[in-house]
Amino acid sequence: MKGLLVVVSGPSGTGKGTVCAELLKETKNLSYSISATTRQPRVGEVDGENYYFLTKESFEEKIRENAFLEYANVYGNYYGTPLGQLDERRESGEDILLEIDTQGALNVMNRCPDGVFIFLIPPSLHELECRIRGRGTESKDSLEKRLSSAEEEIRIGKKYQYVVVNDTVSKAVRQIQAILLAEHCRKEKDWKIEEVLKK
Ligand code: ADP
Ligand code: 5GP
Repeated sequence: MKGLLVVVSGPSGTGKGTVCAELLKETKNLSYSISATTRQPRVGEVDGENYYFLTKESFEEKIRENAFLEYANVYGNYYGTPLGQLDERRESGEDILLEIDTQGALNVMNRCPDGVFIFLIPPSLHELECRIRGRGTESKDSLEKRLSSAEEEIRIGKKYQYVVVNDTVSKAVRQIQAILLAEHCRKEKDWKIEEVLKK
C-alpha cells in the first residue's frame, strides 16, 4: 500500500521542529523529507540532516530543472521540497513527513490532493512569542517578520484537514499519531473489503 504524504505546517516558533523530531522517533514507517534552503545554518544544524543548505544560485538552478515538489520564499529565503526519491519512497510503503510553510502546503494541496494536511498552532500568540524569543535564534529583524505574520498565518490553518494545538509535545505527538492511524484506516478500506471477499 502506498505510504501517506504528511504535511505539517504552522507559524515559526510554534514547535514544528520539536514535535516532528519526537514524532519521527516515536512512529514506525515515518521518515522525514529533508528540505533545501538558502538561509544560513543555525548553530548545531547539519547540512544534509536538517536541511540541504544551498546558495541562491544553485537553488534557482534547481527551480529551473523542476527539481522541487514545491518551493516558496519564506521570510526572505528560499525553501523547497526536493522531488528526489519522494514517489519511490511512498510507493515502497513509507509515510513521508514534510514540514513546510503555508504557501508550500497550499501548493502541495493542489499537486497531491491525497496528502494529509496538519496545522500545528501554539496555545496562544503570547506563548508563540515566548517560544521564538526563548529559542534565541532570530535577529531582531527576523523575529519581527515572524511575529508580524503569525496571526494571519494561523488563520490559514482553516484550510487544513486537521489542527493540532502544541500545548505539550507529547500530547501533540499523540494527536498526530491518531490522525495517521485514522488516515491509514481510511486509505485501506477498499483493500480490506477486497481481501475479505477473496477468502
Ligand atoms: P518551529 O520549528 O515551529 O519554528 P521549534 O520546534 O524550533 O519551532 O520550537 C520553538 C521553541 O519552542 C523551541 O525553543 C522549543 O524548545 C520550544 N517548544 C516547542 N514545543 C514546545 C512545547 N510544547 N512547550 C514549550 N516549549 C516548546
Ligand atoms: P526555519 O527557518 O525556521 O527552519 O523555517 C522557516 C519556515 O520555512 C518554516 O515555516 C518551515 O516550515 C518552512 N520550510 C521548511 N522547509 C520548507 C520547504 O521545503 N518548503 C516550504 N515551502 N517551506 C519550508
